[in-house]
Amino acid sequence: MQNRLARLQANFTICSSFCVKSGEVADIENDLFPLGLEANIIKTVTTDMMQESSQSLLQLVGGKGYRLNHIAGRSTVDSRPFQIFEGSNDILYHQIADVITSIPIRQRLLNVCAI
Ligand SMILES: Cc1cc2nc3c(=O)[nH]c(=O)nc-3n(C[C@H](O)[C@H](O)[C@H](O)COP(=O)(O)OP(=O)(O)OC[C@H]3O[C@@H](n4cnc5c(N)ncnc54)[C@H](O)[C@@H]3O)c2cc1C
Repeated sequence: MQNRLARLQANFTICSSFCVKSGEVADIENDLFPLGLEANIIKTVTTDMMQESSQSLLQLVGGKGYRLNHIAGRSTVDSRPFQIFEGSNDILYHQIADVITSIPIRQRLLNVCAI
């Protein structure tokens, strides 16, 4: 239970940070073309975390959470489409893999070391 609560809190913090960052960057004034990889990563990770968090909350709450008028059941249903629209995650994961595998191995290692 503690592990699930800690993970929920962590997911909330990460998703909120991504939203703040996106809100700051996504502006018609900015050239967003070079940020395609970053956008795909943020979209897929955030939406997967939303669904994972809702499933975890449902597990924590138990049977009564399965009702659609409970936040656990409601969030499980409402977060699912985010993995499908605005670019389905399955396809975005392909695109992320394509970009990363197109970067030469030496550059990839340098990028990882720079993190
Ligand atoms: C609640 C909701 C609201 C929406 N709102 C809008 C909206 O406001 N405006 C709008 O324009 N659209 C909207 N959509 C549509 C949404 O953008 C599409 O449903 C989405 O792009 C997926 O397209 P599709 O449904 O035709 O599925 P398909 O393209 O038929 O895909 C079905 C499944 O196959 C997978 N798949 C398809 N091709 C590949 C491939 N090459 N490799 C691997 N996997 C693949 C997909 O990942 C997906 O899981 C909404 C959808 C939902 C569910």
